[in-house]
Amino acid sequence: MDAIVALAKRRGFIFQSSEIYGGLNGFFDYGPLGSELKKNIRDCWWADMVRRRDDVVGVETSIIMHPKVWEASGHVAGFTDPLVDCKVSKQRYRADQLFFAAVVVDGKTVAYVSALESEKTTEELQSAAEALKRKKAIQGTLAPVAPKDFTEATPEEIPLIPSPATGEPGSLTPPRAFNMMFETSVGAMRDASSVAYLRPETAQGMFVDYKNVVDTGRVKLPFGIAQIGKSFRNEITPRNFIFRSREFEQMEMEYFIHPDADWLACHEEWLKWCQDWLKSIGLPESHLSLHEHPKEKLAFYSRRTVDIMFKYPFGVQELWGIAARSDYDLQQHQKFSGVPQVFFDEAAKAKVVPHVIEPAVGVDRIFLAVLASAYAVEDVKDEKGNVEQRTVLRLSPRIAPTKVAVLPLLKNKEALTNRAKALYAKLKKRYAVQYDDGGAIGKRYRRQDEAGTPWCVTIDFDTIEKEGDTFTLRERDSMSQKRITEAELFTLLEEQVY
Ligand code: ATP
Repeated sequence: MDAIVALAKRRGFIFQSSEIYGGLNGFFDYGPLGSELKKNIRDCWWADMVRRRDDVVGVETSIIMHPKVWEASGHVAGFTDPLVDCKVSKQRYRADQLFFAAVVVDGKTVAYVSALESEKTTEELQSAAEALKRKKAIQGTLAPVAPKDFTEATPEEIPLIPSPATGEPGSLTPPRAFNMMFETSVGAMRDASSVAYLRPETAQGMFVDYKNVVDTGRVKLPFGIAQIGKSFRNEITPRNFIFRSREFEQMEMEYFIHPDADWLACHEEWLKWCQDWLKSIGLPESHLSLHEHPKEKLAFYSRRTVDIMFKYPFGVQELWGIAARSDYDLQQHQKFSGVPQVFFDEAAKAKVVPHVIEPAVGVDRIFLAVLASAYAVEDVKDEKGNVEQRTVLRLSPRIAPTKVAVLPLLKNKEALTNRAKALYAKLKKRYAVQYDDGGAIGKRYRRQDEAGTPWCVTIDFDTIEKEGDTFTLRERDSMSQKRITEAELFTLLEEQVY
């Protein structure tokens, strides 16, 4: 993970926000290569989800909405995480990410140990328990630890659980509900009536505009409304780089279906669509898995939620949630606004409130998944047969920030640079391309490998001296080279960049 964060900074993919002021925890900036890569992820999703489908339309709704929206959606009352304070260190923890275990010797609890959630939580608790037994010179047999998260701690246990910050018990508070919405106020007056929120999800924009789309969009059930945009959550513990941040971007789609439709089949179809889409932008199947939310943990209105999980360097985590939300959202907005949220069912000659299947994914989480799985450091041989290391980002051509680098073999040979510049100008009209004439050709290839550029085109002496106007096409992953004409290059790009 550290290597990926370092590459992200070195090559201008991601910077810490406000870095010159020491940064702001949970906020990030995307640099020149990062903003291209992110835009490509968004553009591919929009093309596949909206433009190439006949049953999905797009919207772009405001970030600050009427505060009643968030009352109707349940966010004002319930968009909370359980917060635990350490009174001594002033650290704050999410109770469900703070784990503890009783240290049980010969069947008796002698103390407690704690650890923050990670891939190795159980091992850490076990070794903490062993260390504690040794330190206190307790005789007897230590039972294997049984980790629980802090939301499961009883009032009697809470004072006995050590704070991860100090290692001492007695400073952790009982969990309390912490609302994650960022508050702001609208207008010149600041009082209770001016309170508004930065949206914590984009989904409500689609529900609130449902009627407008039905009235104007010539849509028929089933149909979807999609949106890409920023969301804001005051996460208690932003972490794992851009995986959990406080300002992030979501791509969500609400698919409205008839209440009598086969919702399970529709849910399955979207689940498959989302997995196929992730593979189409280059995520390896081996890193993807599914997590079915257990029935007892679903919200009361939810029929089913399945998350597509991704194997990140810090563990398997949620990437994309696909939820069957019944008609809860439209019913809530109908109730709170007093405006019917219906569809006229021609066959039954009756008004119905549609149900919803919602695939919701974070752009930044896709970005991190893409970066982590594309990153490789490998030994390669240079022209003289010496082994050297190359860093390469095996990004799919669909999303690579630069599609082609145009390289004149020599910088000071006009015949070469003129031909290279002409090709560059032509490519630039359609694709993100780079012109690079600095340094040895091998060095330039390495630079492009690290930026994830799938192809380099070298304009060499054969281009200008031989018949056919061909260039050397060097492929990033195989490093193989072949001669190619301009027309063939455009055909290749047409096929691979879509
Ligand atoms: P988590 O359990 O990880 O907090 P969630 O289940 O609350 O996520 P949803 O409300 O379902 O997430 O949001 C949909 C998608 O938005 C998530 O699958 C994820 O890709 C993305 N997302 C949610 N919270 C964040 C965040 N703080 N930073 C980056 N992406 C996020």
